[in-house]
Formats: sequence, C-alpha cells, structure tokens
Amino acid sequence: MSDFHTLSTEELHEYRFRLQEQYNRFRSQKLKLDMSRGKPSPEQLDLANEMLGLIRSGDDFLAKNGVDTRNYGGLEGIPEAKELFAPMLEVHPEEIIIGGNSSLNMMHDTIARAMLHGVCDSEIPWAKLPVVKFLAPAPGYDRHFAICELFGIEMITIDMLPDGPDMDTVERLVSEDEAIKGIWCVPRYSNPEGITYSDEVVDRLASMKTKAGDFRIFWDDAYAVHHLTDRPASLKNILTACKEAGNPNRVFLFGSTSKISFSGSGVAMMASSQGNLDWTRKLLSAETIGPDKINQLRHVRFFKSLDGIMEHMARHAAILRPKFERVLEILDSELGGKSIASWSRPQGGYFISLNTLDGCAKAVVEMAAGAGVVLTKAGATYPYGIDPRDRNIRLAPSYPSMEELTTAIQVLCLCVQLVSINKLLKDGSK
Ligand code: PMP
Repeated sequence: MSDFHTLSTEELHEYRFRLQEQYNRFRSQKLKLDMSRGKPSPEQLDLANEMLGLIRSGDDFLAKNGVDTRNYGGLEGIPEAKELFAPMLEVHPEEIIIGGNSSLNMMHDTIARAMLHGVCDSEIPWAKLPVVKFLAPAPGYDRHFAICELFGIEMITIDMLPDGPDMDTVERLVSEDEAIKGIWCVPRYSNPEGITYSDEVVDRLASMKTKAGDFRIFWDDAYAVHHLTDRPASLKNILTACKEAGNPNRVFLFGSTSKISFSGSGVAMMASSQGNLDWTRKLLSAETIGPDKINQLRHVRFFKSLDGIMEHMARHAAILRPKFERVLEILDSELGGKSIASWSRPQGGYFISLNTLDGCAKAVVEMAAGAGVVLTKAGATYPYGIDPRDRNIRLAPSYPSMEELTTAIQVLCLCVQLVSINKLLKDGSK
C-alpha cells in the first residue's frame, strides 16, 4: 500500500470502507484485551517462583552482619543486598540504600522530604518557596508526572531527542531559573521510547550550571538490566560524572526488581552521594524502623550475584523478545510506507512508542477501546496528561499472550489507518 497522502479522495473512501468492515468484524468478537500497563506476564513471573521457597522455617534467618532479618532494625537494608544490587546501579555498596517493594515509593518520598525539609544543601524547604518547577522530558513516565502534580510542582516539558532530553533547552532553563529544582530521567531504555542517553547527555547533565544550588536529577534506572538483545546499551555512570564535575550531590539514582523478580513484591533501591544518603538516613529513621529484610534475603539467596541477575534477565528477554518482534512485524506490515505513523524499535525496556499523525492519538485510543482493546490513555506520556501534538501512544507488549497481542495490534493498526484517513479527508488535503 502506498503513502496515504498520495491517494485520491475516492481511493481513500474506498479503502476506509474496507478497513471499517474489518474493524466491525473485530468489534463483533467482543474482545477484552488490555495493553495499557507494562506488567510482566504470568510466564515471566513464574521464572522467580523458586524464590518463594528459599526462606523456610528451620532456616537460618541471619544476615551476614548478624542481624536477624525477622526482627526490627537495619534501616538501609542488609549488607548482602547492598552488595548484590550496588553493581546493578554501578555504585559502591556504601552508596546504596535498599528499601521496600517500590522504587516509585522511594522517589515519591524523596520529593516529599525535599518539599518538607529541603535536600542536604537547600537553604529552605522547597515547599516554602513560591514556586517549584521540574523539567519533564516527554514522552515520559506518567507516574513521575503524577508525583509532581500531587505536590504542586510545575512541570516544564522538554523534548526527547534520539540520545536523551534536548540538552540545549535543559541547560538554558536551569541556568536562568532558580525555581527549577529537578529533572526526571529514565536514562536507559526510557519509558516509553526505549532511548538510552548518550555519554554527552550524561556529562552535560552532570556538569551544567544550575541557578538553584540544590538542583537534583531523579535518575530512574528502572530498566538497568532489561535488555532485549545480546548487545546491552551502555550508559555512562552519572554518579561518577557528577562527582568529577564537582557536583557530587546532584543525583539520586533509583532502581528495583519489580520487572526482575515480582512486580510490587520485589526490592527497591536508591543510590547517591554520602551527603545525600546521610540526609536521607536521618529523615528515613523517623519514617520507618526498617524495610522488609526477609524479602531482601530471599532475593540474595535466589540471584546470588549480578551474573545471576543477568542470567535471569536473559530468560525474561527470551519471553519478551518475540512479543516485541511480533508488534514490530505487524506495525511494519500494516502501517509501513503509509506516512501516517512512526514507531520506536527498542533494544530493551518494556515499551514501544507509537506516533500517529498530529491530532489522532486520542481518537485512535478511543476507537481501539470501542473494539475491546485497552491501550494506555493518550496523553499519559506527557505532563498533565496533555500531549501537545496528540500523537503519542505507549504500547506495552509484555502482558498479553502472543495471540492476544497479535489481535490487539491488528486492531490498533486498523484504528490508526481509519483515524488517519478521516483526518486527511477532513483536513481537505484530499
Ligand atoms: N520507573 C519506571 C520508569 C517504570 O516504568 C516503573 C513501572 N514499571 C517504575 C518506576 C515503578 O517501579 P517500582 O515497581 O519499583 O515502584
């Protein structure tokens, strides 16, 4: 099929008629398919089931520092969990705090603490300032944006370029505006585009001059080991870059095993400079007596080392890769060459990012829902849920079975084509 823009009005009408028939056939099947969130499939979760049997009554529950994992204490996690997960974020064990079950929780709390108490080099708590702003590279992760909305932090959308956020704009804004206190980054296999930041972007983030003396990078390395190919993307170490640039306190790193072991029942972590960690520990000690150390021990016994984690992730990739390939095959065959959409070809992470013609994403998501296919809400990948070009749709291929996925993407492709034809006809360009 040729470029839609070159088709005559009659050809578009005729083609729309045929597509509509196919759409109606899907509609009559009363499908119920959900591709809205990046959840691991049951088959992926099964990979870690053995972990559940690794803590038994009659076992030794002691961590290597002698702490009884069944009892209170150990604010920042057991030492063997620090040793296991520090190399995943490429930091030293003394630079990491192992927390509870959710890194999003740690990000939320880090911002809440900054609002209430400031960060270690703040002059006053952020919430006492007339306005606090964050830079939000977009498309990005909706739950980051939700945290800012919750705390009334104003977001400034930054375009994502193929190697990370548009750094010319980032540098200009942070150098001019003292109210800009932070930036959200998913630096590896970004959600949703699968972009990994270049070394240059990492260096510029680490060394840029910021008007706010207490500016922070929220470095959410959620997909640190989530490679889909055997050529892992390399990401420059931001903590080292910040130290070398004379800004050791600039970055908080976050990660978790949510998409490694069990989602929502994994282990989360944050890493940073000693200055930031000392400050965090002080405030954290009022918030909790300590995290779930039994779960940490279970993870240590199961994975043993970073190599163990990498072997496990290869098993996830073996399940995920064919799903990503299937989505891309269908997008290529159904939408390729028609000049109505473009999509990412991620080498890792959990998402494929689809851009329709401007002004079409909402209508596509609605039309897909009409045929029983639930996609991530259009706009969700932008601050305040507003995609200025109404074109981005996040596709999450992990959860559905191969059969469900195939049907869902076929429906999606029909909807993209129908909505695009409607737009071309309405715009009068035809
Ligand atoms: N960060 C990113 C970029 C994510 O995509 C997700 C969701 N999988 C999370 C954080 C949530 O992680 P957690 O389960 O550790 O809270």
